[in-house]
Amino acid sequence: MVKEFSFRTRKRDLENIENEIFDVAVIGGGITGAGITNLLAQNGLKVIMLEKSDFGSGTSQGSSKLLHGGLRYLQNGQFALVRELLKERNYLLKHMEIARMLEFRILIGKGQWKKGTIRLGLNLYSMLGGKSGIPRFHKNNKEFPPGIDGFFSYRDGWCDDSRLVMYHVVSAHENGAICLNYCEFKSSSNKDNVHELEFMDIVGDSLKKVKAKIVVNCAGPWANTVSLALGNENNHEFKMSRGVHIVLSRDKYPGKAAVVFRSSLDERQMFIIPHDEVVIVGTTDTFTENSSDFTVDEQSVRYILQSSKPVLGDLSTEDVKSSFAGIRVLMGEGNDPGKISRDFSITENDGIIHVFGGKLTNHRVAARKVAKIVSGKLSIRLQIKGKPEITYKRGNQDNPYEYDIMHECAMFPEDIMRRREGYSIYLPDGGKSREEEIKKTFRRMMDD
Ligand SMILES: Cc1cc2nc3c(=O)[nH]c(=O)nc-3n(C[C@H](O)[C@H](O)[C@H](O)COP(=O)(O)OP(=O)(O)OC[C@H]3O[C@@H](n4cnc5c(N)ncnc54)[C@H](O)[C@@H]3O)c2cc1C
Repeated sequence: MVKEFSFRTRKRDLENIENEIFDVAVIGGGITGAGITNLLAQNGLKVIMLEKSDFGSGTSQGSSKLLHGGLRYLQNGQFALVRELLKERNYLLKHMEIARMLEFRILIGKGQWKKGTIRLGLNLYSMLGGKSGIPRFHKNNKEFPPGIDGFFSYRDGWCDDSRLVMYHVVSAHENGAICLNYCEFKSSSNKDNVHELEFMDIVGDSLKKVKAKIVVNCAGPWANTVSLALGNENNHEFKMSRGVHIVLSRDKYPGKAAVVFRSSLDERQMFIIPHDEVVIVGTTDTFTENSSDFTVDEQSVRYILQSSKPVLGDLSTEDVKSSFAGIRVLMGEGNDPGKISRDFSITENDGIIHVFGGKLTNHRVAARKVAKIVSGKLSIRLQIKGKPEITYKRGNQDNPYEYDIMHECAMFPEDIMRRREGYSIYLPDGGKSREEEIKKTFRRMMDD
């Protein structure tokens, strides 16, 4: 029986927290915050997580959704990172009910890669992932336009990112954590080593307070805003880069396998990922100074269309059904965002832990590192190895929208359209055909 996790439990939780002292308060309900909250709750700690919008509504809904080691990172010599990511990929593929293996075809030919380089890279990649075998070259048998000589094929993971976040959030909720969406952290004070956090309940339009011994800042691109509100005087040094994806209808690329290709404009690595009735193409990698810059600009869309021309042929902006963007937090130096490491970094001072950067794929590694620090600070032993586990399984859904409202704490139609059911990106009509039914369900459930 799946526990209730809804607007009603949310309201009750908000009424009951003011007099409690939590062990840990996590700020940010993206994949990083969700994984950490889940791990700590699985250890019986009193944990509260505050998310200013919906769970998974930041960068964790705007990724390429790959569970992968990052073949490209081998070029930069990041072997340890690739091995760690592949280990995590394998775990998620085994334990996450919605993760799946996908065939990828990496292109060889004019403007693409050279056979020898890819053969060597794939060999190393599968070895680091615990497998061996010589990758086989397949000639282009009219699967791709002329100019593409052929491809190597390999397998990697894929999983809807914001749903992965929800699986951790609901697992954490089932393990006793209080997870509050639409609650924005605003400011804090510290008395006798206890942090008092003030936050805004955006749904109830009221300021609330909560106390915690340790605070974990998982605010992704907003990490510096949160850090300043936590009393830090200086900004942490990181760069941000925006990545855009476009969504096309399936007939624009009817193949079953995903494609890895090089942009015809600047040779960057890009992906075409088929999913049900649509194809996702991305991504871009451009520096930005604005944490909330999730807009999809026309220039990025044109760049993706031009870049994929040798594979997808002539397409126009009219062919784009929808689009989405995410902002990477990059720890490291350099003028080329593509060359800066994708690994995460964790710092701690005065009972505040900050997590920066990282990948969707290695979020559990970040959670374990944070848990080690928490264990030291609270002087308690925590079960960290192999955690956090995804214990939640989506139950019987006679009416999926009711289920999303009652068991996954959807508060607004957009929470269902985008993050619970994914209609806004996975349906060619952007989910318009489902919108009215979802709104009706909300009206009925909330008025009951
Ligand atoms: C274009 C792109 C493609 C990517 N592709 C992949 C991929 O294929 N595979 C992979 O493994 N990784 C990928 N990544 C990386 C991955 O998406 C990120 O590492 C991950 O989503 C970061 O999660 P996060 O929780 O740290 O940040 P976020 O998801 O941004 O979460 C931060 C959360 O903090 C909340 N918040 C901010 N301020 C406050 C506040 N004051 N109070 C309360 N809450 C607050 C925000 O609302 C947000 O939900 C990609 C990234 C990008 C940008």
